[in-house]
Amino acid sequence: MSNLPKSVVIVGGSLAGLLHGLYLKRHGSNVVILEQDPNSIRSSHQAGIAFGPAVQEILAKYDDTGMQSCIPATSTRIAYRRSWELSLNIARRLTSWGLLYRTLRANFDGLASEAVPNPPPPRAGDGKAEYRSGKKVTDLRYDNGVITISFVSQDGTEDSLTADLVIGADGLHSTVRTLLQAPTVKEYSGYVSWRGTVPEKDLPPATVQYFSNRPTLSFLKGTYLVCYPIPPDTGTFTPGTLLLNWVWYCPPSKGDLPTLLTDRTGHTHSNTVPAGLINPAIWASQLASTLESMPPPVATLLSSTKPSAVFVTKVNDALCERAVFCDGKVVLVGDALVTFRPHVAVATEHAARHCLGLGRVWGQEHEEGKGVVMMTMGEWEREVRGYGERVWMASRVLGVWGVGGWWEFWGVVWGFVRILVGGLLRGRR
Ligand SMILES: Cc1cc2nc3c(=O)[nH]c(=O)nc-3n(C[C@H](O)[C@H](O)[C@H](O)COP(=O)(O)OP(=O)(O)OC[C@H]3O[C@@H](n4cnc5c(N)ncnc54)[C@H](O)[C@@H]3O)c2cc1C
Repeated sequence: MSNLPKSVVIVGGSLAGLLHGLYLKRHGSNVVILEQDPNSIRSSHQAGIAFGPAVQEILAKYDDTGMQSCIPATSTRIAYRRSWELSLNIARRLTSWGLLYRTLRANFDGLASEAVPNPPPPRAGDGKAEYRSGKKVTDLRYDNGVITISFVSQDGTEDSLTADLVIGADGLHSTVRTLLQAPTVKEYSGYVSWRGTVPEKDLPPATVQYFSNRPTLSFLKGTYLVCYPIPPDTGTFTPGTLLLNWVWYCPPSKGDLPTLLTDRTGHTHSNTVPAGLINPAIWASQLASTLESMPPPVATLLSSTKPSAVFVTKVNDALCERAVFCDGKVVLVGDALVTFRPHVAVATEHAARHCLGLGRVWGQEHEEGKGVVMMTMGEWEREVRGYGERVWMASRVLGVWGVGGWWEFWGVVWGFVRILVGGLLRGRR
């Protein structure tokens, strides 16, 4: 039985929106994505993402580009200061936001890019797919069983659409979630992530070799870094053309967040100081504070990063208590529903899980022999809420363990245990 919605509007054209859009289009729904960013070829800051089996499954079934999508890493290195390191059998697929975005766009609405110059044609049975850039959603109304979404274009013109289903995939600061007045816990973690990339060709061969084919987690005093290779947005995987990407989690020095978020022109940003705008003196003092305690390859990587390629972001998280609204005609997915702290590296994977779960609600993932059966919207909401809450708390435990003090650490561990026990008790009732 298929419950597939015939017409769908998706708010937010990043990875969660595109994963859901491609899935629905391939199953015959007509999909419009409304994205506030006016640029079709979007910049990802060339930073990396990791993904897992759910994204892999969606690409295997619905991606017709025939392109390589990731670097398959089979292990993860843990390094403790300059003292010791070990290798764990933790497999991850490593890619860049830019490449995944371009691959999904090529399949969704045939966007040509340097990565996918010849997008694949639609399949027989595909629905219509439209990606409208520069459309900022401003209102959502539910009257007499009909959902109307209003949006404003770059030139200020207002317009609206109706649909059988609206998917809010508009990220951490979700407008859809705000319009629905959905109860949400949204918090600043107390620390930031510094990020950057270096082309392999700009590094000594020994440094490239050290980081090749796997993520490295480097723990220092009250701070840690994650470094791994990723393809550039152009989608090349040839050795020598990759980028080495790093993320460095640490509290702002002397707790001075406003200074850290003030760029070199004197403007103070609310969340991110983009690449190219970092005050070079702040970055130089940040680097100097810790460089000597980093393992030598990590120190080489960071000191080889051009200051113009460095950016800094406040680490926030958010947990919304509900995923389904307006009698099942509006759902929240991806970061709009739960934004994890990035330590668990599962944001995109989580969005893909939401999509495959909704596939079961829509009757598209029915595989009797494998125990994959249909579920109701209510069951889907319970599942994504429970999983989201556990991972949200786990991401806090990991973050505070890597960056925070012992008191905060035991505080979040206690919160995690309460959520696990609460989940078990709810399951018994
Ligand atoms: C440009 C960009 C680059 C990124 N790069 C990385 C990266 O390198 N590494 C990484 O780990 N994660 C990155 N992320 C975050 C990552 O995509 C997400 O954490 C994860 O994939 C889940 O994404 P999401 O689609 O739920 O939310 P997001 O990726 O946050 O996307 C939300 C989308 O909704 C749009 N939007 C918000 N409000 C409105 C509105 N009112 N109307 C219309 N559109 C709206 C936003 O412009 C955005 O495109 C990036 C996100 C973006 C947007």
